[in-house]
Amino acid sequence: MSDIDQLTAAFFTAAATSAAESAVAGSSTTANKNRATNKSTTAEILASHFPALQQALQQEYIEKKHGRKTDWDQAFATLPANLPSHTQIGVDGIHLGSAEDLDISQPEFRDLLMQFTPWRKGPWHLFDVHIDTEWRSDWKWQRLKPHITPLAGRSVLDIGCGNGYHLFHMASEGASLALGIDPTRLFLYQFHICKKYLPDLPAYLLPLRSEHLPAFKCFDTVFSLGVLYHRRSPIDHLTELASFLRPGGELVLETLVVPGDAQTLLTPADRYAKMANVWFLPAAPMLETWLRRAGFVNVRTVDINQTSTEEQRATDWMTFQSLKDFLDPADANKSIEGYVAPTRATVIAEKP
Ligand code: SAH
Repeated sequence: MSDIDQLTAAFFTAAATSAAESAVAGSSTTANKNRATNKSTTAEILASHFPALQQALQQEYIEKKHGRKTDWDQAFATLPANLPSHTQIGVDGIHLGSAEDLDISQPEFRDLLMQFTPWRKGPWHLFDVHIDTEWRSDWKWQRLKPHITPLAGRSVLDIGCGNGYHLFHMASEGASLALGIDPTRLFLYQFHICKKYLPDLPAYLLPLRSEHLPAFKCFDTVFSLGVLYHRRSPIDHLTELASFLRPGGELVLETLVVPGDAQTLLTPADRYAKMANVWFLPAAPMLETWLRRAGFVNVRTVDINQTSTEEQRATDWMTFQSLKDFLDPADANKSIEGYVAPTRATVIAEKP
C-alpha cells in the first residue's frame, strides 16, 4: 500500500475517533449534552456506512490504478516532514509556515510541488511558496460564507471538493468533520500534501463519486460547488444531495446559471466555454424550482456572480487555457460559442 492509499484508509479510524471525541467533549449543560448526543448519533450513523464506503473504495480506487500513480507516490514520499511554525487560514488564502521551517531549500520544495501540476484550486502559501492556482477559490468561499449557518460543531460533506481547498476552510471554522468526495486522483495528492502540514484539522477526502455514496442522512451541511452542470441528470444529483443530509440540514449549492425566469434553461448544443461536459444551465428561478421539486424547503438564491478573468486564469501552476480563452475575444460577456459568459449562482436550501 502506498502512503496515499494508507492515508485514504486512515479516514475510517480518524473520523470515528474525532467524532466520538467531540461527542464526549460536551459539558454538563443540557444544550451541550444534546449537542454531544447528536454528535455521537452522527458518528454512529457514519460508522454504520463504513463497510459500504470501504467496498466502494476497493472497487473504484484500489482496483483502478492511475498511470501517474508511481511518479506521484515517489514525489509524495520525498516531501519534507517539517511542520509549519504557524498556520493561518483566512480571507487571503491558506498560509502554512515559512521557508526557514524547511530542511530542504525552497526551490527544491517548489520543484516537488510542481510535480503535482495542474494546481487548479487555491491559493496556497506553503512554507513561503505561493501556489498561484488557476482559481481564486478563496473568493468563492468569501462570497458564500456570510449566507451559511456557521459551521462550528457541524458535520460537513463537500461533494466534488477538488483538492479540498474549501475543506480546510470548513474545518478551520470549527466543523467537527469536513469530509470531501472527489474522484480525481491528482487532487487527492494535492489534498494530502496540504493535510501533511495541517495534521490536526478533521478534513478528509475519499476518492469516490457521489453516486458511490450511501444515503448517509446524517450530515448537518452538504456542499455541492461547481458540480451540478457536469451532471447529466441534475435533479437526481439534488435528490442524492438530500439523501446525505439529516432532517433540518442545510444544502449549499453553487452552479452555472443563465439570465431568465422559472421557465429558462440552456442545454448547450455542444461545448460551453470549451467544456464538453456541461449539460444543464438553468436560470436561478428554475434552479430554485428544481430544488423544491427535489424536496428542499426555504430555498433562496443568495449570490449571482459573473466569473472574472482575475478569478479564473492561467498561471505558472496551471499553464493550460483558462477563462480568457473560453470567452468571445470581441465580447467578454459571451462565451466563445456565443452563449452568456460563465455566471454562477449560490443557492441555500433546507431539508425538511
Ligand atoms: N468544489 C470545488 C471544485 C469544483 S470542480 C470548487 O468549487 O472549487 C468540480 C469537481 O467535481 C471536480 O474536481 C470533479 O472531479 C468533481 N466531480 C465531478 N463529478 C463528480 C461526481 N459525480 N461526484 C463527485 N465529484 C465529482
